[in-house]
Amino acid sequence: MDIADFYGHVRPDACPGALQVHTAADGALARIRIPGGALSATQLREVAACSAELGSGVIELTSRANLQLRGLPSADAPSATEAGAFAARIAAVGLLPSETHERVRNILASPLAGRVEASLVDVRPLVTALDRGLCASPELTGLSGRFLFALDDGTGDLLSIGADVTFLATSSSGGLLRLGGATAGIPVLVDEVVPSMLAAASAFLELSDGTAWRVGDLPDGPALLASRLLHGGPVASRDLGGAPGGPCREIASLRAPDARVVPQRDGRVALEVVVPLGRLSADQARALADVADEVRVTPWRTAVLPDLRPEDVERVADELTTVGLVTGSGTAWAGLSACTGSPGCAKSLADVQGDARRWAMGTREPSTPAVPDGVLVHWAGCERRCGRPKGEVVDVVATPTGYLVGHGRKTEKTEKTETRGDM
Ligand code: SF4
Repeated sequence: MDIADFYGHVRPDACPGALQVHTAADGALARIRIPGGALSATQLREVAACSAELGSGVIELTSRANLQLRGLPSADAPSATEAGAFAARIAAVGLLPSETHERVRNILASPLAGRVEASLVDVRPLVTALDRGLCASPELTGLSGRFLFALDDGTGDLLSIGADVTFLATSSSGGLLRLGGATAGIPVLVDEVVPSMLAAASAFLELSDGTAWRVGDLPDGPALLASRLLHGGPVASRDLGGAPGGPCREIASLRAPDARVVPQRDGRVALEVVVPLGRLSADQARALADVADEVRVTPWRTAVLPDLRPEDVERVADELTTVGLVTGSGTAWAGLSACTGSPGCAKSLADVQGDARRWAMGTREPSTPAVPDGVLVHWAGCERRCGRPKGEVVDVVATPTGYLVGHGRKTEKTEKTETRGDM
């Protein structure tokens, strides 16, 4: 879709996908949508193979739990056959179920839904149903590649993400539907969640009429959408006693990622692994696929391996540590992020990933302030600060003469050019 900006200029939605790639300084950049962040070992192996054989050999985890490959052949290059080969290869393992809807399948889900005690609703079947519903609707191809759905199982781990339509479970039978940044939610039963989310997306398209990419871009968007749903949508008959719905709990900052072992209800455990700077090498991706049948990537750029036997965890952690993944808590890698930087981004003033790595490994020490526990650190190659997490962050920003370090809450909106949507 296109959108008219403040001055009435029409700007196309350039959010990349697996087919509509973005041309970066280091080649074509493709983003593969991973609803719920769930990948089978077979799928992850194929992505690793594509990355190594067709791209730069690096798989980036995005803040929407999608995967991004860089350095791919562009469609108009002499190697266009290879560009087509990439799409065909990921389609063959089920990662491109719809060519028309590939960029709108933006669905986050609590990574441990249905497995841990705190999980009130197993949202995994809802992810599948929502994805199918999206792909079955011709009109919803009109959503932008930035429009985001989130299914929170009641743990509250997705509340700070700021999705356009969020379901928050509050009991085993239902929860609240939150629209944009609204503080109140509409009560919904579990059976109503997917129809309500699809109805909200349709209503958004109708109300925005091509003038907005996200609910927050629409004046009074949350209130207008709620009104549509309550007067003619799947929850129209809900008796709210005149109130707009129940209050959503306070929104916490995005949690600092850390490695951990989480007990599951069934006696097994899940291992959460920190991926340094959110970038997996092909070898690291293969190592993850070798030790688990399923891997869940998260919006905080970690990888979760569920359903492990407790007696296997130490061995699995050792194997992953050997390839450079972080399985112990409290390291400098937890909460450390960086934008693409040089050479991938032409705007960058430094190799921020290399510098951030050297800093984390203790071989470079810019004059950063002391970082309190749980505070995130973000390195950026220019003032745009792409990929900066929300909340309290220490910023390390490249300038022509070195890095500038700042500590605080940045609230102003930053225009992003190099990385779009969910970096
Ligand atoms: S902040 Fe964004 S535009 Fe600036 S160097 Fe990094 S990726 Fe490029």
